[in-house]
Amino acid sequence: MKYEAVIGIEMHAELNTKTKIFCGCKTDYGAQVNTQCCPICIGLPGTLPTLNKKVVEYAVKMGLACGCTINRETKHDRKNYFYPDLPKAYQISQYDIPLCENGEISFYVGEEKKSVRILRIHIEEDAGKLLHDNRFSGTLIDFNRCGVPLIEIVSQPDLRSPEEARAYLDALKAILECLGICNCRMQEGNIRCDVNVSIRPEGNEAFGNRVEMKNVNTFSGAVRGIEFEIARQTAVLEAGGAIEQETRRWDDDRGESLPMRSKEDAQDYRYFPEPDLVPIRLDRAYVEEIQSSLPELPLVKFERYWKEQGLTQYEATMLSTDKDKASFYESCIAVKPNLAKQICNWILGDIAKLQNQKHCLISDLSIDPSALCELIELNVAGTLSSTSAKAVFDEMVATGKAPGTIVQEKGLAQVNDEEALAAIVEKVLSENQGPIAEYHNGKTNVLGFLVGQCMRNSKGKGNPQLFNKLLAEHLNQ
Ligand code: ADP
Ligand code: MG
Ligand code: ZN
Repeated sequence: MKYEAVIGIEMHAELNTKTKIFCGCKTDYGAQVNTQCCPICIGLPGTLPTLNKKVVEYAVKMGLACGCTINRETKHDRKNYFYPDLPKAYQISQYDIPLCENGEISFYVGEEKKSVRILRIHIEEDAGKLLHDNRFSGTLIDFNRCGVPLIEIVSQPDLRSPEEARAYLDALKAILECLGICNCRMQEGNIRCDVNVSIRPEGNEAFGNRVEMKNVNTFSGAVRGIEFEIARQTAVLEAGGAIEQETRRWDDDRGESLPMRSKEDAQDYRYFPEPDLVPIRLDRAYVEEIQSSLPELPLVKFERYWKEQGLTQYEATMLSTDKDKASFYESCIAVKPNLAKQICNWILGDIAKLQNQKHCLISDLSIDPSALCELIELNVAGTLSSTSAKAVFDEMVATGKAPGTIVQEKGLAQVNDEEALAAIVEKVLSENQGPIAEYHNGKTNVLGFLVGQCMRNSKGKGNPQLFNKLLAEHLNQ
């Protein structure tokens, strides 16, 4: 029997507000342990929380970007559970009235456009971090993360494969980044997922029992976890067993999911309305203002780059899902719309390489968009060979000088004068009798080697197309 996977994802994203959700403590990552906490976020008796307005604004932004309905009257609820990383012994979350619900996001999986319904997006507080250190016979707790604002984005079980799940996660991350509400640094735990997986015989309507996998900290880990879980559940069913609803822990190092506990019910949490906070009431105008301030979303950008500007799907994805790249690309095509393809090549090629070396954003490199366009035009027009264009680019980034000035100063202009090039061709031919013989014996790709030799002799300034033409003429005489 063939089985089909059914997947639903709960994503927790930390919002990048300056301060925590219910107190004024900072949220900076990497601070000395237990230095960013106060009586409120460590849950001392007698303290009272105050809601950070920015958290609501950011969550509403995300809700609107995901096409959700915003509940203009909502509240906070206590989710009670006892675990040492949660000093109050309850988490302030939202239960029956989430801030946002019933949305939908679309994205591409290869050529195919896919939509996934968003069940809800609610706000809640993060818990502290448990530190296990071999030097102590116990567990240490860092409360800095207590009260860092989170949104939980819950999808409907609309995903059907690990690839779709991956594309969905990438799409959510791109939206968060585009809105600027989450730092999206996976290594800092800004995004954490619970992945729900079930399988059903192909063609069946009814869903199977789901397994909820916790502790999924990377998107590639989510894919591995889902693949593992599909295989595990298939094996259980094929052996005549049944899948029980349970919570498992994904262990990415071991590459397997391990039983954690049988699935808890909502009633286990004894939810009740948070008595220390007033309900949230939002004006219609407030929501409308956020709606009208939304930036162009990644999917719209993607389709514009792909369908209107002729980039490949891969290129359009790389640019549209990266705020920094997209913004630089936009400034360049504003100068020269017809150079879209070449601008993209530079961004994904030499500029990305430079960024990797310097570990920085394009915006930190202060490259003038019109200067890059000028450089590309010099290359397209044949004034600069591609090799020299790279040299001019490096100089341009280092000194801020205009490409034209650099070309003049360094004498880098491409040599298109056939007579000058012919002299080099003759020299190279006289020095390469062996390859020439090979060429005449049918190894015509020797031509490429000879062009390379000519380029070297011209210090990268000769026009390679002309070299190619001249060499071919000589060899075929
Ligand atoms: P809980 O808090 O119990 O995990 P939530 O409503 O927060 O419940 O999340 C349930 C998640 O499980 C959703 O993402 C939903 O899409 C997913 N889900 C529900 N039923 C199934 C199923 N049969 N197979 C896979 N995923 C499912
Ligand atoms: Mg859950
Ligand atoms: Zn605090």
